[in-house]
Amino acid sequence: MTLGVFRDFKSQAIIAFVMCSLLALTAHRLGLMDVSLDLLSPDTLVAMEHQHEGGMRSELHTGDHSIAIACELSDISAYSLCLLKLNYSRRNHFSRGLDLSNYQSVEIVATLKSPSGKENIKLYLRNNNPAYSLPHIDISDKFNTIEFELGDESTTLNVPSKALFVAQWWKRERDIGYEQSHVDISNIVSIELVIDEAKELGDYVLTVHSLSMSGEAITEPELLRLILLLLFMVIVLLTIRQKNNLKKISSTDPLTGLLNRRGMISKVRKEFKHIVEHHTISLFYFDVDDFKKINDTYGHPIGDELLVAICQKVKLIISEMNFEGRYSFARLAGDEFVLTITDCDKEKAIQVSRRIGQQLIDPIPVSGCEVKVGISLGLAYSSDKKASFKALLSQADSAMRCAKEQGKGRFKVFDDSLASAIYLKKSIAENLKNALINQDFSLRFMPIFSCSDLKPRRVEVLIRCELDAMQGVTPDVFIPIAEEFGIIQNIDLWVAETSFAAMQMHFLTPGRSCPVFCINISAIELLNSSFPKQLKKLMHKYQIPSEYIELEITETSLIEAGETSLSILKELKKLGVNLALDDFGTGYTGFNQLLAYPVDCLKIDRTFVADIDSEHASHLPMVNAIMSIAQSYNLVTVGEGVETQGQLDYLRSVSCNYVQGYFLAKPLLLDDYLLLLNDYA
Ligand code: C2E
Ligand code: CA
Ligand code: CA
Repeated sequence: MTLGVFRDFKSQAIIAFVMCSLLALTAHRLGLMDVSLDLLSPDTLVAMEHQHEGGMRSELHTGDHSIAIACELSDISAYSLCLLKLNYSRRNHFSRGLDLSNYQSVEIVATLKSPSGKENIKLYLRNNNPAYSLPHIDISDKFNTIEFELGDESTTLNVPSKALFVAQWWKRERDIGYEQSHVDISNIVSIELVIDEAKELGDYVLTVHSLSMSGEAITEPELLRLILLLLFMVIVLLTIRQKNNLKKISSTDPLTGLLNRRGMISKVRKEFKHIVEHHTISLFYFDVDDFKKINDTYGHPIGDELLVAICQKVKLIISEMNFEGRYSFARLAGDEFVLTITDCDKEKAIQVSRRIGQQLIDPIPVSGCEVKVGISLGLAYSSDKKASFKALLSQADSAMRCAKEQGKGRFKVFDDSLASAIYLKKSIAENLKNALINQDFSLRFMPIFSCSDLKPRRVEVLIRCELDAMQGVTPDVFIPIAEEFGIIQNIDLWVAETSFAAMQMHFLTPGRSCPVFCINISAIELLNSSFPKQLKKLMHKYQIPSEYIELEITETSLIEAGETSLSILKELKKLGVNLALDDFGTGYTGFNQLLAYPVDCLKIDRTFVADIDSEHASHLPMVNAIMSIAQSYNLVTVGEGVETQGQLDYLRSVSCNYVQGYFLAKPLLLDDYLLLLNDYA
């Protein structure tokens, strides 16, 4: 066994406890826990009395360190008594005597000078208890008694408390039942020393040199019981601590020490209702712009360091703006953070948002390099007593997305205009879902012409939504919404299937030539590993040869692409279909990047084509550059958005392979497209 086993806090605490217990037991054995009570000390002794009866006469003498009672017996015919009484309770306070029950023995050092040399002495420890004591009648106090013989030599007597017995005569006289007949020294109001068996005439002098109780503050069995009890408590406390630690670990983000999503949710569950009922609340949702790129460029360890540094900066702002004690800060996932501050009005919240942005303007030094980051932040504010965390979070999230759409590195406050934009998006998403169910989509076919003979060799399939409520809402608008609301995959499959059905019915019949169908697919499909399989299934169902299919993916979607996207592209390529980069030129794909992707065709974006015959033609070099890239990599080129003869002529002059655009044909209904093909047949 190695010492490592004992490294955790629980083992260390138990070892420390066992050591302390052994120490306590040893100290007990060595008598370090012994205690004693001096019954003659002025601190304990309240008063002294002497009494005599029968043929006795008594007198009290007090010395520095002793008390003596001198008695003279002058008549032996009657019962005679000589008594020294030490009182420990003040008058009328009989319930407040001495509790001697913790002492294990009575010790007395005394001498007795008597005519016979030795006499029997009785020691009474008189206990007051309302169960048997009568008010103001001290004879009714319990007689806890011992008897011993005393001579004129100083005698030390150490009597265990257990050796005390209750005087029989007292029990008889007071008619004491069994339950009160045992020794009880828990409320001793007086102690008496009595000579009542003297038989010889003469002087009797009883001197008490010392009278004390001694014992252990705690007996060994009690100590052991206490240790066991404490051990039990220590184990319970350690278990609770361990449980709390586990809870803390499971609700804390190990990298930043902030709450994680689970921690935030459980905190919200506990506190949010109370907070919104009594305070206003501002919720900030922010993330690091292009964090994936930072991770890819600098590596994950630097990405992690950066997140920690960002947290620290935000915490500094919180403390500088005196929000300590009224904020919660969590890292929900990756580079997404949520900060809530209570009693922070809208203006202050805007200041916080601004400061978060400003603090992060300067490059952040991490592991020897400096990284520049931008933060996009969404702010939602509520003074509504019924606000829900979920709603506030989604508002801040929407505001953050809006900030990103508007160009990143900025903050956006959730307001009415954003709310209505979101409402509009939601209703469009709802329409799209219904359109899928009720078959309210249709296709348009946009012919693509070969530059050499200007014949329609290819066709781009474009979707339309026929719902009245969607009049004027073009795919440019609804496709991004479909992507955001997770509807795009069904739309892409619907377009593919409807295109394949049309191909099977009208083109893949004997005697007809089939154009290449160019089908747009969303960038989202490059993260959907089941897309190639789904496409393969559809191709099989409609018996479509792969050479008649080209999939168009926007160039910008490739910029974000990682390993998954590349492997999906390769899967698609394995099916035999062609791949085209749509809107080429807008995304600045590097040459070497282009080589890595298995693409066959570049579609020159409309904006560059539109520029060709404009006055300045500032994009002309771009068109030429694209053409030379395509030629070096042996890629097919398609010029998009040709609207004039001049544009067409130019593209033909630079040996562009294909062109499409309103100059040649607009997107057509299937029947019109078939008619157009017939014209060229
Ligand atoms: P895109 O892939 O670049 O499609 C070409 C768009 O440009 C089409 O707009 C088309 O009507 C338009 N266009 C073609 N020639 C000209 C021209 O000479 N002048 C002008 N001004 N416009 C021209 P549309 O159909 O509104 O589609 C817009 C975008 O929506 C598409 O851009 C594409 O990104 C997306 N989209 C369209 N259909 C689908 C689809 O079935 N699936 C997916 N995922 N996206 C689609
Ligand atoms: Ca396209
Ligand atoms: Ca395009």
